Amino acid sequence: MNPTPGTAPTPALRIIPRDQHIISRANISKAALRVLYRLHDAGYAAYLVGGAVRDLLLGFRPKDFDVATDATPEEVKKLFRNCRLIGRRFRLAHVVFGPEIIEVATFRGTGEEGEGDRHIVDGRIVRDNIWGTIEEDALRRDFRVNALYYDIGDFSVRDYVGGMQDLHDRVLRLIGDPEVRYHEDPVRMLRAARLAGKLGMRIDAAAAAPFESLGPLLADAAPARLFDESLKMFLAGNGLKSFRMLEQCGLLKFLFPATARALKRGDAALRSLVEQGLANTDARIGEGKSVTPAFLFAVLLWGEVRDEAHLGIERGLDGAEAWSRAAAKVVGEQCQRVAIPRRFTFTMEEIWSLQPRFEQVQRKRVFRLMAHPRFRAAFDFLLLRADESPAMRELGQWWAHAQRLPQDVLAAALPVLGGAAEATAAPAVRKPPRPRRRRRKRSDSPASE
Ligand code: ATP
Ligand code: MG
Repeated sequence: MNPTPGTAPTPALRIIPRDQHIISRANISKAALRVLYRLHDAGYAAYLVGGAVRDLLLGFRPKDFDVATDATPEEVKKLFRNCRLIGRRFRLAHVVFGPEIIEVATFRGTGEEGEGDRHIVDGRIVRDNIWGTIEEDALRRDFRVNALYYDIGDFSVRDYVGGMQDLHDRVLRLIGDPEVRYHEDPVRMLRAARLAGKLGMRIDAAAAAPFESLGPLLADAAPARLFDESLKMFLAGNGLKSFRMLEQCGLLKFLFPATARALKRGDAALRSLVEQGLANTDARIGEGKSVTPAFLFAVLLWGEVRDEAHLGIERGLDGAEAWSRAAAKVVGEQCQRVAIPRRFTFTMEEIWSLQPRFEQVQRKRVFRLMAHPRFRAAFDFLLLRADESPAMRELGQWWAHAQRLPQDVLAAALPVLGGAAEATAAPAVRKPPRPRRRRRKRSDSPASE
């Protein structure tokens, strides 16, 4: 075996028998059990591995179930009709059971560069398709807690790298030398922050130490992969915790530079908007409601877009132009890091550009805005802005109230476009105050980051 240079020696294998751990087959999905049994019955090694074993040992319900085996992807395909082979960089078998997909990975080896189908560029693993033993497979996983194997043969847990101890100590430790492992794949830094947030674990000092110096490597990670990783961080039910951990680790600035910059300006209302936006998203996911990445990305980038738009207005641009230029600039910069698909950036831009329109409460405009396909999202966004000023809070309350009124009552209470008539008919529909623009201080320019 050829461990990566700098890798600590492998601890002795520890086998934890069924009566000494809490994993029960009752908590493993039926689909995963079927895959495990069929592989096992065909004479292959079959283990549940990774996040599922970790989560089950912690008493959580796993999000997905991954299987590791010594069968090659082609051999797996022969065993299952409902199987497709995917991935070039990392070839895998997907066994499909309705909405559930069981990912079956062949044990990976630790071959040297250029050997077999393993490709390394500047220390980065760009392809990893060399088959190996279970011991080697354990060593190339990221964290020790992610390298535990549940054996369907005797229901024991196999621990090759000390993951059980880390679960007990609630600490995330990387397998091997952190610098080498982050160079191989910088996304592991984000995984550290996400898993620490989700699992309530601390990140071992050695694993956290390179964040500042190696964080810039994230600029070379594929933007599409960073988009997927962002969804796992912010739209999987633990968004607020992931976000806080990402910021605390100093990694936010490498992934969402505009967000980090805007928050660094110390704007309490913006922090409240971001944290409340994430908390609301987590709550919706917890209740099984739908969420859109567009809303959340609109939340994350709002501070910078708003300040940029106000700067444009101060420089003499008209409102609509200033907002659309600000949105284009901020989205353009962000998409170089995280590839947010166009259908989402389009919605984000709509949510932002509708914000100033909430301040115009003449009759026609109110009804036109309410009929806008993005009204609901834009209104929810307005509510998140409550801490910007008391007037902004009142504006949110006004729109909430306006939506509950019968149309004719609302219409009668509103001034007509350009008219001098004030809304006096129904006191509850009094014209809301116009929130004052926040001026951005010159010294806050993004260049000062
Ligand atoms: P989650 O709860 O989000 O599913 P997870 O740890 O299961 O967390 P997955 O992306 O499902 O994350 O990965 C499954 C397993 O594959 C991990 O537990 C780990 O063993 C291994 N793995 C995933 N990504 C990497 C990586 N970048 N480098 C090394 N091993 C990885
Ligand atoms: Mg998983």
